[in-house]
Amino acid sequence: MLPGVTTDPKLVSELARKKEDENLEFRRFLSAHHDDSHLLHVIGSEVEAQVDCTSCAACCRETRVQVSTEEVARIAGFLKIRPAEAARMYTEPDPADHTRMLTQPAGACVFLDRNLCMIYEVRPDACHRFPYLTTEESCLGSRLESIWRRAWFCPIIYNTIEEWKHRVGFHTRGHS
Ligand code: SF4
Ligand code: SF4
Repeated sequence: MLPGVTTDPKLVSELARKKEDENLEFRRFLSAHHDDSHLLHVIGSEVEAQVDCTSCAACCRETRVQVSTEEVARIAGFLKIRPAEAARMYTEPDPADHTRMLTQPAGACVFLDRNLCMIYEVRPDACHRFPYLTTEESCLGSRLESIWRRAWFCPIIYNTIEEWKHRVGFHTRGHS
């Protein structure tokens, strides 16, 4: 059990924004000290076990989820409708490329009901793996880039970074 894990998404958001400069300093520290992705993976697993995602669901509000044709078909099967109908009702083109993404009609994923996912059993792979800390492919690289960007809304990421600082002996030069 890790001490001091902060699980309230609102508090995490406040704290993470205050720590933006400190996190930048920590990133420089990691670069200079040959950061260890295995440690990130270990801490991420420990933190994840302590955070109840059903009382958060911030990622279902703050991120957009890309879906493949296969994933749309799987969702359609779960909802007992045709894939084309599922695509029309619940997805829209991603302006960045030729893929599709789940719609967010009211500022949150179309499948979010309060904090629960209505298609949890067949949720897209991106949802299943978020926040990408406990999977082996979460090596320091592009994944880590997204981790820094998402620390402000995800309690798992926020607490993992804080514990990471602690374990590698990082001390800020004055940011808080
Ligand atoms: S993965 Fe992070 S943002 Fe998503 S529900 Fe869990 S704690 Fe919240
Ligand atoms: S599909 Fe489910 S887990 Fe994924 S963003 Fe939507 S509500 Fe959240």
